[in-house]
Amino acid sequence: MEFCDECGGMLVSEKKDGEAAMKCRSCGEYQDVDSEDFKVTEEKEEDPMDRLNVNEDGEEESARPTTQKECKRCGKETEQEWWLKQTRASDEPPTRFYRCRKCSNVYKEYD
Ligand SMILES: [Zn+2]
Ligand SMILES: [Zn+2]
Repeated sequence: MEFCDECGGMLVSEKKDGEAAMKCRSCGEYQDVDSEDFKVTEEKEEDPMDRLNVNEDGEEESARPTTQKECKRCGKETEQEWWLKQTRASDEPPTRFYRCRKCSNVYKEYD
């Protein structure tokens, strides 16, 4: 049960401009609907920028710089992509990741 902020009267649910609203029976004041029961389901639009941030070891491989480095799995020097990622506290140096193009083995190395 909710009550009017203005006069303390009882609120009743009512449609206002096509949306659920609470209206005071005593003074006719509309109140903000903060009750879950009357909440109109909001369609949350997905932010397309969110998806671009997900880039651990999948997309955009070709954009990464590569270096010749020994891969422990291949047991020899291979072409390896590398990138930096801040995985710890921001005042510490970022971690360097390598990904072997031959076996796709990903490992990290601290500078
Ligand atoms: Zn009222
Ligand atoms: Zn390898």
